[in-house]
Amino acid sequence: MFCPDCLYEYGKGIKKCPDCGAQLVEKLPEQDDDSDINIETAELAEVYDELEEGLLRSMLMDRGIYSFTRSNLLPHTGAIMTVFRKRGIGTVIVNREDLEKAGEVLKDFKEVKKSGK
Ligand SMILES: [Zn+2]
Repeated sequence: MFCPDCLYEYGKGIKKCPDCGAQLVEKLPEQDDDSDINIETAELAEVYDELEEGLLRSMLMDRGIYSFTRSNLLPHTGAIMTVFRKRGIGTVIVNREDLEKAGEVLKDFKEVKKSGK
């Protein structure tokens, strides 16, 4: 038996959760597959400053593509890692299923950067 609130499993014969008093159920409802824990992600592009990051991500958002930036900053010092080459401030990450669409956005983004808008 399971408590639908605490998600704890209890032995047979127990009907109420000792913790929260909720009615125990035989099975927990299926976990929502849309939870973002299992979403596969892909690296889209490295960005070199906040302006670039903001522009690229707002262009992605315009197309309905969710993105986030994985920072290259070291968590403790705030220093940018410069191991092999000049690094950007971070890498923009998108869901793998959006990668193709995001690639198109990236092309537009590079055009915009070239034209210096
Ligand atoms: Zn409970």
